[in-house]
Amino acid sequence: MSLDDQWFSEAFESEGVAFSLRVRRKLLDERTRYQHIEVFETSHWGNLLTLDGCVMLTGRDNFLYHEMMSHPALFTHAAPRRVLIIGGGDCGTLREVLRHPDVTDAVQVDIDEGVTRAAARFFPELTEANDDPRAELRFEDGLAYIKSSGDGTFDVVIIDSTDPVGFAEGLFEAPFLREVHRVLADGGVLVQQSESPLLHSESIIRDLHGALDEAGFAHRVTLPFPVPSYPSGWWSATLAGKGVPVNRFRQADADARAFPTRYYSADVHRGALAPPAFCAALFSGLESVTTG
Ligand code: SAM
Repeated sequence: MSLDDQWFSEAFESEGVAFSLRVRRKLLDERTRYQHIEVFETSHWGNLLTLDGCVMLTGRDNFLYHEMMSHPALFTHAAPRRVLIIGGGDCGTLREVLRHPDVTDAVQVDIDEGVTRAAARFFPELTEANDDPRAELRFEDGLAYIKSSGDGTFDVVIIDSTDPVGFAEGLFEAPFLREVHRVLADGGVLVQQSESPLLHSESIIRDLHGALDEAGFAHRVTLPFPVPSYPSGWWSATLAGKGVPVNRFRQADADARAFPTRYYSADVHRGALAPPAFCAALFSGLESVTTG
């Protein structure tokens, strides 16, 4: 990461690519016990949040990610009431979850309270739902929290974490995902941010499907979507069902939704279920077998 002549750059050495945004000034530089949190004011992309030098979100394109990390899973579940978010400290995903009027409880568990403090100061549009009486914000390790949750406690679990390194690595592995399977009620749905289809299909995404299968999630599907500020500009969310297919969703309810979205729609959801040809078998998981 560098701030040369007013550019923020994040390089991906292993991929021979970098992403840069012109910045006007740095608004925050804080080292918590977990991460290096920085916020920049950019010239054209609103504010930029980075953790340990990695882009987490910009004011301009975060809606793509937050909408696709929430609405597909919630409209896939038959009747989501109780939602758990692991990570998600910027609170953008929480805001989208709480747009669903039938959701009764949304528990967010992020290890680093500094991220939420930074979001409240520099991305207030993302934290606007934090005072919703249905919301509970906890600041602890999701790997520990999940073990303290009872069987069948949640209908939807959203894993909105950083990349699978450091204290986030275990969130992509079978032991944790087996706990998620246990705390989901029958018919429950998991959604996990699953990195770049272009860069990670033969690594992180493939390994995640294997860990989900090992954890008892036979029904899986990976939904690709654009996020220009993320590595390769192309990201994904992987859905997994506890005893239910995840390539079908409540299309009429999605069409009739009473809240605004800028990217998500029933058509976008349906389109995202059609996997790119180069990773069709991987992205469709069991669904490609059971539904042809
Ligand atoms: N959209 C981003 C992405 O795809 O990389 C993720 C955004 S959100 C800011 C990521 C959050 O995951 C961070 O706030 C971080 O503190 C949290 N996190 C990472 N590992 C965690 C863990 N083991 N338990 C709870 N939160 C964790």
